[in-house]
This record gives sequence, C-alpha cells and structure tokens, in this order.
Amino acid sequence: MIYCKRCLYPANHPYGTVFDDNGVCMGCRIHEEKDMLDWRARLLTLERIVQSNAQRMGRKGFDCIVPVTGGGDSYFIVHTVKNVLGMNPLLVNYNAHYNTKAGIRNLANLATVFDCDVVTSTLAPELLKRITRHTLQQYGSMYWQALAGYLTFPVQVAVRYRIPLIIWGVHPWSEQTGMFSHLDEVEMTERCRKEHGLIGISAEDLIDTKAGIARCDVQPFVYPYDNELETVGVRGLYLSNYIRWDSKKQHELMIDTYGYESAVQQRTFNTYEDVHCHHSAGLHDYIKFLKYGYSKVTDHATREIRLKRMAREEGIAHVARYTERKPEDLPLFLDWVEMTEKDFNDCVEDRRDPNIWVKSLNGEWAQKDSILNHADDEGVEDVRLGKIEECHYRITPIAEPKSPDNEYLLMGRGYIDKYNYGAVENQPPGGMTPRTWQRKIIY
Ligand SMILES: [Zn+2]
Repeated sequence: MIYCKRCLYPANHPYGTVFDDNGVCMGCRIHEEKDMLDWRARLLTLERIVQSNAQRMGRKGFDCIVPVTGGGDSYFIVHTVKNVLGMNPLLVNYNAHYNTKAGIRNLANLATVFDCDVVTSTLAPELLKRITRHTLQQYGSMYWQALAGYLTFPVQVAVRYRIPLIIWGVHPWSEQTGMFSHLDEVEMTERCRKEHGLIGISAEDLIDTKAGIARCDVQPFVYPYDNELETVGVRGLYLSNYIRWDSKKQHELMIDTYGYESAVQQRTFNTYEDVHCHHSAGLHDYIKFLKYGYSKVTDHATREIRLKRMAREEGIAHVARYTERKPEDLPLFLDWVEMTEKDFNDCVEDRRDPNIWVKSLNGEWAQKDSILNHADDEGVEDVRLGKIEECHYRITPIAEPKSPDNEYLLMGRGYIDKYNYGAVENQPPGGMTPRTWQRKIIY
C-alpha cells in the first residue's frame, strides 16, 4: 500500500487519493492553501454572497438553514452564521437515534445559548431499525441512515420552508483528500452527497419488500427533485472555503465561550467531534477499519500533522494505540438492532478491501500493510512540516456525572436553564418555568 509521505493517508482512501512526485497526497497539497490564502478577503467574499442572497430572498424570516447534530462543528457554524455574519438561521437536526446524553445536552445548550429555532426529524424507531438492519446486511453499514439523514433532511427543509441558503461547515472531501481547491468555492451537490457521503447508495436502493421497506419508508432520505430545488433556488455553501478551518481551535473557542461539552472517545484522541453519538467514533469507526485498514484516528492525526501540531511519528503512535481497539459500544448496538455478534461479523466479513486485508487458511484476517510500517520511508524528511505547537485535546467536566451515559437517548430536555443542566427532564426546584425553550416540529 502506498501511504502519503507527509500525512498518514493510504492510497485506498474511499474518497480517492492522488500522490505527487514527492509522494505527498493531494489532501496535503490543498491544505497548504490554508497558509497561503488571504482569509480576510475570503471572508469578505462570503459576506458578499450572503448579502446578495438576502437581496434575492427579499423578505424577513430565516436567512438560512444550518444543519446541526449538536456535535461536530455545529456550534462554530451557528456562531459564525449568527454572530459573525449577522444572520437569523433555522437550525435543522436529523435525529440519528444513537444520541449520547452529552450530545443531547450539547444540542439543548446550542439552541439555548444562540436562542435559535430548531426543526428536528425523528423517524419511527422500528422503521429506522429495519433500515439499519438492511443497510448492514446489504452494504456493511450501520451508519447509512445517520449520514443520509444529516445530508438530506436539511435540503428537504430548505424546499419545504422555501429557505434557499444552507450553510455547512467543512467540505469533508476537500479537507481530507483535496478533491477541490478552496478557491473553487465548491457548493453542495447531490452527486457528491451520494457518491462520497452515502457510499453510492441512494434511498431508492433500500426498497425491499422482504425487508419490510417500502418506497414511502425511505422518503425521509430522498433528495428533493431538481425542479423543487430550482423553484426555491436552493444552494449550499461550505464555510471552510471562506474561513481557515481549524476544527480543534474552533471547538476550544466554543468550549470557552458557550460551554460546549467534550468527552473521552474510545478509539481516538480527539475528544471534541463525536461527543453526540455512541457509535460515530466507536462501532461505525471500527467498521471503517475493518473495511479499509484505517480509521478516524488516522483522519484526526492527519489533520493535526497538516496543521503542524503533531509530528508524523506521533500520529503513527496514536494509530498504533487506537486503530485496532475493539469498540465497547457493540453490545449496545446489537441489543438495539436485535442481531447476534456472529450475524454482525457476517455482515462486514466480505466488505474488507482486498488491497489491504488478506485471509489466512485458518480464517484469520491480517493486514497486508499498515502506516506503522512506513514511519521511516525514504522521502519523509524531504516533505516534513515543522511542528509549531503541541496538540492537547481538553476534557470538560461532565454536566451529569452521576448519570451513566450508556444507552441511546432518543429525545431529551430541549433547553438549558440555571435550574437544570441535565439532558433528562427532572422537576426543577420549586417548579420553575424555563425562560427559554426549543420549538420542535416532528415529522
Ligand atoms: Zn498527505
């Protein structure tokens, strides 16, 4: 396997990786733009786009939609949209069912501190279970519904509410593998969503009468038709094309300013991003390792190497520490989806990339190669970036330390006030009425 001589990405990255003559991947080369572009001018460009959009809308109401999970970059995007760009966003949340209590608290706090309306989609629990079982059996994915919901529901809301602007955070395909330059100002497309976001599987592909999935069942994951998008004039921007994207620093600003809660993760050193979900950095990430031989810790270390906060050797040490670690959330998922561990293993067994995995005669899988074998590759020193600071991820205090966070919380308290910082509804002392609340519209 070929690995980038600067970061840790392998040639079999599912987004596609291209290497230059020095063995550096396109993701690393595009990342160099972060230290070359005039980001003040880039932000002015964004402000001009937003202003022209406001004139296009020509009415009062919501200026844009911001998709939020409560984790990831949700806080920073809402902060930028509301406080930097001065817009009035409608927050749109797809409920992926795998919520942690910390995630529900972060989402409630997000709506409260920014005082925003939130539209939430919560699918029928048994239907979601059927869909998840089906995508796991057919495609080896237990997370398709979450990705499809995150990437589809905001676009559906844009059409229904006639709000033509969606503002996303990072453009993941440019950030990871350099698919586009920041200057391309690439916008949201259905093609990128399906091919790269949804591993090539459309909602219609799931229709299966034997599995109990009808056309009407997959409607929550159906992207609006072109004529619907054109009628409203829907477009989706990525802030990372206009703001120098540094997820770690952005999260730390959100922790200090708005009380964003971080949490220890079992399979990566990054305590900021996957707080909202039991499986994103757990079982879902482990499946990625079983398929491609690398996982989120590689993504996170690569990002830190490019931002000059981590030496390549430190990143490799993190991979050695985390990437093979078995996820502790497997029993939680199996209990919910009603499958045995053997059934689960059978679903991912044949999904392994033969470029990186080989099965021995006794049935054991082994990696043909790993970044661990490429620490001292020839040419690594020639393309090394100088480290300019250390990389420490913070762990914030847990708001509900006596409440174990070991099960899905489908819904929780939608607001935070001074009487109750918990995600679960408890009667506050004296029966006080909260001053702020979240308006929920459930589809
Ligand atoms: Zn690279």
